[in-house]
Amino acid sequence: MTHRAAVIGAGPAGFYTTDQLLGAGWEVDLYDALPTPFGLVRSGVAPDHPKLKSVTRIYEKTAAKPGFRFFGGVELGRDVTREELLERYHAVVYAVGTADDNRLGIPGEDRPGSYSATEFVAWYNGHPEYCGHRFDLSGGRAVVIGNGNVAIDVARMLVLDPSELAPTDTADHAIEGFASSTVDEVILLGRRGPAQASFTNPEVRELGELLRADVVCDPAQVAEATEPETPTARRNVEMFRDYAEREPQGKSHRIELRFLRSPIEILGEGEDGPVTGVRVSVNRLEGGRAVPTGEEEVIECGLVLRSIGYRGRPLDGLPWDEKRGLIANERGRVGPGEYCVGWIKRGPSGVIGTNKKDAADTVARILEDEQAGTLGTPTDADPDAVAAWLTERVPDAVTWEGWQAIDAAERAAGEPQGRPRVKLVTLEALREAGRLTPAR
Ligand code: NAP
Repeated sequence: MTHRAAVIGAGPAGFYTTDQLLGAGWEVDLYDALPTPFGLVRSGVAPDHPKLKSVTRIYEKTAAKPGFRFFGGVELGRDVTREELLERYHAVVYAVGTADDNRLGIPGEDRPGSYSATEFVAWYNGHPEYCGHRFDLSGGRAVVIGNGNVAIDVARMLVLDPSELAPTDTADHAIEGFASSTVDEVILLGRRGPAQASFTNPEVRELGELLRADVVCDPAQVAEATEPETPTARRNVEMFRDYAEREPQGKSHRIELRFLRSPIEILGEGEDGPVTGVRVSVNRLEGGRAVPTGEEEVIECGLVLRSIGYRGRPLDGLPWDEKRGLIANERGRVGPGEYCVGWIKRGPSGVIGTNKKDAADTVARILEDEQAGTLGTPTDADPDAVAAWLTERVPDAVTWEGWQAIDAAERAAGEPQGRPRVKLVTLEALREAGRLTPAR
C-alpha cells in the first residue's frame, strides 16, 4: 500500500520533506495557508536577493514528481483540523514555521511608528495579510533593533536607491512607499558587541557596497571587540574595522552599526503617541552577556523596527515546548503519525539549505516508523476522496496548476518592466488568478 503524507506549510522545510518522502515512494499532499507556495522564499527573503529566491526552481522539480499535490489557501485550524488530517494520512508533518515575533517587553513597544521587522518584511514582499499596512517613513532617522540577518535586510531596504529597487519583485505598494520615504539614516542597534553579531558575511559585505548609503561604525567599539569565536564572526569584525576606518563618501544616506546598546523604552508623545526616540542602556560584556553599565542614551528617531527573532505559535492539541516556542519533538517525531520540521521543530535559525538536512532527519523518523509499523492509521486515505472533501471544504483552494497560472500572470506583468514578476498581493487577486475553470 502506498503511504500518504500531509505536509503542512509549503516553505523550504515543507518542500524538502515532500521531496524526500516522494523519493521514498510516498504520496504527498502539500498544504499552505496562502494560495501561493514557497513560504519565506516568497515573503521573507529580501527582494534585492534574487539569487536566494532561485531555489524555487528546485521546489518546482519536486512539484513535477508523481504523487505530488498542492492545496493552497487551506489553513490548519481554520479550514481543516488536525483530527481530520490524521483520519486521512499515515503521516502529518507540521512545517509551519515560527509565526510570532519575540517581544522586547519594554514600555512604548506598540507605539505608532514601532513595528516588528516581520510586518515590514511581509509588507514589502507583498504578503496578502500585510499589504494594507501603512508604515510611516516620513522621519529622518530609523532605529533597527537586533543584529541578525533580518535586521540587516530591513536596514538595507530602507536605504536602497530607487534604481536598486526597480528591477526587483518588491510589492508595488512598497516601491511607492520607499519612493516617498524621507528616512536617510538607519541605526542598527546590537545589545552585545561586534564579535557577537549574528550577521553572516555576505550581508555585512553588502552594507559596504550600497549605492547611496555610507556605512559607519565607531572605531572605539571595534577596537574594544572581544575575540571572535567563529570564522564568520572574525570576518564580520574585520569588515566592521574596515567600515570604522573608512572616510564617509558623503552619500545621501547612512547606516550606522552601534553596538552594546539595549533598548529600555520606546519614547513618544503621551502614552500612545508616535515614536520620537529610543532610550537605551549602554552595556558591557560579561562572560559573553550584555550587562548594563548604568549609563543611558536617547536616540531620537521617527521609526523603530524590532528585529529580535521569532517564536512559534502553539497548534491545538500538539505538545508545546513553552520555553523554546516550538512543538515538543524528538528529532522531528511528535507522536504517532505526527512529525515536525524546520523552524517549528528546531527554532528560527540557519539558512534555507539548513532545512534540507533537517528534513532528512524528520523523514528518517517517518521511515523508521514505517518499518516499525507505527505510522498513523487513517480510515479515509483514498486520495480522490481527500480531494473531494477539500474541494467541498475550501472551494477556492489553489492547486499546483493554479499556482502555475498565478506565477505566469505575475511574470508576464513583470516582463515589460524588466522585473522578475509583479506580485499579486491580495487574496482575491491571487485566488482569481489561480482559479482553474474547465475552460482554461
Ligand atoms: P537572529 O539571527 O537570531 O538574530 C536575532 C538578533 O536579535 C540577535 O542579534 C539577538 O541578540 C537580538 N536580540 C534578541 N533579543 C533581544 C533583545 N531583547 N534586545 C535586543 N536584541 C535582542 O534572528 P533573525 O535576524 O530574525 O534571523 C532568523 C534566521 O533567518 C537566522 O538564522 C538568519 O541567519 C536567517 N536569515 C538569513 C538571511 C540570509 O541568509 N540572507 C536573511 C534573513 C534571515 P543576541 O545575539 O544578543 O541574542
